[in-house]
Amino acid sequence: MKKEAAASGWCRRCRRWHSLDHGDSLVQARRLIECLRQMGTLAGDGAMDARLATDYLFAADGGKMFGVLVAADSQGREVTLQAFSGQYNGLFAVPGWSPPLFPAEEYQRLAAEADVRIKSLEAQITSLTASDSRRASLAEERRALSRALMPRLHGLYQLQNMRGETASIFDAWARPGGIPTGAGDCCAPKLLCQAARQGLTPLGICEFFFGDGGQGIEARRHLGIYAACAAKCQPLLGFLLCGLDAAKARP
Ligand SMILES: [Zn+2]
Ligand SMILES: [Zn+2]
Repeated sequence: MKKEAAASGWCRRCRRWHSLDHGDSLVQARRLIECLRQMGTLAGDGAMDARLATDYLFAADGGKMFGVLVAADSQGREVTLQAFSGQYNGLFAVPGWSPPLFPAEEYQRLAAEADVRIKSLEAQITSLTASDSRRASLAEERRALSRALMPRLHGLYQLQNMRGETASIFDAWARPGGIPTGAGDCCAPKLLCQAARQGLTPLGICEFFFGDGGQGIEARRHLGIYAACAAKCQPLLGFLLCGLDAAKARP
């Protein structure tokens, strides 16, 4: 494994690690940081959407990872993509930012449906006494619904790599055991999929934290630069980076 790589993962197909370094992306990351600081919003066109303001990142533990990817288009021109991890203030899709790996409306519909059913079960459970025989089966039904939701949501994810192949998150995942909540939502998978969809060849990637990082050992530092995470990203990066070396070698 390349410790210094900004993004790396084991590829089951090639039986080796694929990786991508920072390259020129640090310059673009600094540019984005300046932009966020000066504009105070994610809206690149100066649109006044309060949901895109950066203030909320400075509430306690409110910070977020951002990422930039520098790539070359088919003419050899440099293109920069940007992404935020997960949702931004409840928004999955923001113009000018790499989209999620799933159709956002479908995802929100599934999540909302499950939420309604779980809340209704919870209301029924609290209305019963502990000795009521129905209570245990309702509690089990609620747990089963919660357990089933993430795999259903993950079923909506579609990944694309540098070979032009597409895969479900289940097929791309290269580690034994379950797929954790949040896998596929970080900046690196969003950026690499967006580059693959647009036929771009990635040259460098950089992820940084912006805002309040909270307390404790898991705390992240404002403006700190971090490699793609081991828990949620590495098991997808082998697939996502597969074919990159060949793409870079093409004239
Ligand atoms: Zn990650
Ligand atoms: Zn490979």
